[in-house]
Amino acid sequence: MTPDILQVRGLTVDAPNPAGDPVRIVDGIDVSIAPGERVALVGESGSGKSVTARALLGLDESMILNGSITYDGRELVGASGRDLRRVRGQEIAMVFQDALGALNPLMTVGQQITEPLRARGASRATAQREAVRTLDELGVADAGRRMRSYPHEFSGGMRQRVVLAMALVGQPRLLIADEPTTALDVRMQAQVMQLLTEVAAERRLAVLFITHDVGVVGDFADRTVVMYAGKIVEQCTVADFFGRPAHPYTRGLLAAVPRVNSEERLRSMPGAPPRPAARPSGCVFVGRCSFATDRCREERPMLRTQPSTGAAVACHLAPALEAVERVQ
Ligand code: SF4
Repeated sequence: MTPDILQVRGLTVDAPNPAGDPVRIVDGIDVSIAPGERVALVGESGSGKSVTARALLGLDESMILNGSITYDGRELVGASGRDLRRVRGQEIAMVFQDALGALNPLMTVGQQITEPLRARGASRATAQREAVRTLDELGVADAGRRMRSYPHEFSGGMRQRVVLAMALVGQPRLLIADEPTTALDVRMQAQVMQLLTEVAAERRLAVLFITHDVGVVGDFADRTVVMYAGKIVEQCTVADFFGRPAHPYTRGLLAAVPRVNSEERLRSMPGAPPRPAARPSGCVFVGRCSFATDRCREERPMLRTQPSTGAAVACHLAPALEAVERVQ
């Protein structure tokens, strides 16, 4: 079996609140990604997904990390800024939601795409060739000429391709994509997802795709990790995620997705995730769960593998809910 490219074990992330006091945002998560695997990290805003992504890359020095993050066997928690920059620049790349914010309006896209390669010592000609090839791979027509354009000369979807090109030009092995399609319209979203699927498959690129929009992960991900209030509440294959969601929160997320060609109206999940400083001591979902019992209020459920499906679920009632589902 190929070893995982990324292994996260017992990761906690504390970040300062506006008063400067540390608050636990991510609370002991385990995630692994195999080479070439595409994993979707889903959950509502405020679940801790983006903080997890930033923590994986050591992007925020105000965060206090505990636990372990190993990339290709190397420990990143506690690594020096220089080592982290090297891993970020060469092996793990990241794209964010805000393509415009990620681009410098005063530099041509060519200058921006070649920059990471030049910083690694590539000649101007090599960097130029690789940049054109990457833009071309990402479906930017007339890539050589477009290298001389400025970001404002590109549409929103094209700008996101430029940002992807900046991330991919250095041939990373892992891409962390944080809500990269959120600012795009539905048609552009579909195009970017299709592109990302093709590029990831061709390059055997591992991807951690972070989104609050579960509708976009169906054709993309191999596996889904569901996060709520700083904890992972379910990990399963993408087929099980859509076909037999086990955790009540996952069910709620899916119920909130509008069905294509259906009269079914969007049902939003009542309530909101608890603030990090006000999380309950029992199950983190207890305040919004229609199945909650006294046990849920008192005892925090651990993430346990369900023998019948192989999914890992943090819910006291998961086996019972699944049994009920089976007989219906
Ligand atoms: Fe709901 Fe209890 Fe399961 Fe939490 S442990 S999701 S409150 S049934």
